[in-house]
Amino acid sequence: MYKIIYLNGRYMPIKEASISPLDRGFLFADGVYEHIQIYENKLFYPEKHLARLKRNLNAINIPALHSNAEWLTIFNTLIEKNHIDSGSNHIYLQVTRGADDHRAHVIPEKLTPTIFALTDISYLTKSIEGLAKGSRAVTIEDARRRDCCVKAISLLPNILARTYAVEHNATETIMLRDNLVTECASCNVFIVKNGIIMTPPLSSNILPGITRELTLELAAKNSMPYKEQPITKDELQNANEVWITSSSREIEPITTLDNKPVADGKAGPIWYKMITLYKDLY
Ligand code: PLP
Repeated sequence: MYKIIYLNGRYMPIKEASISPLDRGFLFADGVYEHIQIYENKLFYPEKHLARLKRNLNAINIPALHSNAEWLTIFNTLIEKNHIDSGSNHIYLQVTRGADDHRAHVIPEKLTPTIFALTDISYLTKSIEGLAKGSRAVTIEDARRRDCCVKAISLLPNILARTYAVEHNATETIMLRDNLVTECASCNVFIVKNGIIMTPPLSSNILPGITRELTLELAAKNSMPYKEQPITKDELQNANEVWITSSSREIEPITTLDNKPVADGKAGPIWYKMITLYKDLY
């Protein structure tokens, strides 16, 4: 049975879907995307993702396209048509500027954006016990362009960074710019030092992750001290705990960094409290 996807107003088996090779997403990576978790059959904080989508579309001058209610109808129809009712899955949504009749850098005035969405299994979501085993990360220089706050589909440095991690027996890379932590190939970064949770402040250097936002909201609600402040490489290396966050990984403890244990090499107590609160959100 083929997966049902959504493409430009229609639901269809994925094998029937096609787009023009002149689509600017294909030619220029001219588009943005979202990844929204689905637990059982429910979307996880879709309104936060739709608010980010709206900001991102606006940032690259693509019109809003749909109301929140219309987007939700598309996502929920996909959930229904693909019989998603258990475990951890996600919606992948990609919007590109669309296809012109020739290839030219300058953005044409009137194009119909291409809207593509599908459901897929979230392979990375693990139980608390699974996450508590810890993960390995390696550091690299952040080679990306400056506007990393837009969730753009131009992910070449990110895929190279993730591949570098896997080649070095790690699950993620933690990227640094001018000796300061930015984020990972597809996660945000937190450290804990002397009981204080810290994460780099929002800037054009990082994606405003929804999981980052939820983690900070949980810290505030539960009187867990936290700061949004720049983190140096030295602070990262000497942290009591290092976490990476994303919709699919949730909050994952990094217990080995550049082949050295983070503190005692075990997932820490503040991570344990935070992941327990996070899992209670769904
Ligand atoms: N940073 C980058 C570069 C990402 O690609 C992602 C997710 O794909 C994140 C951070 C985490 O964002 P979220 O928590 O919204 O999944």
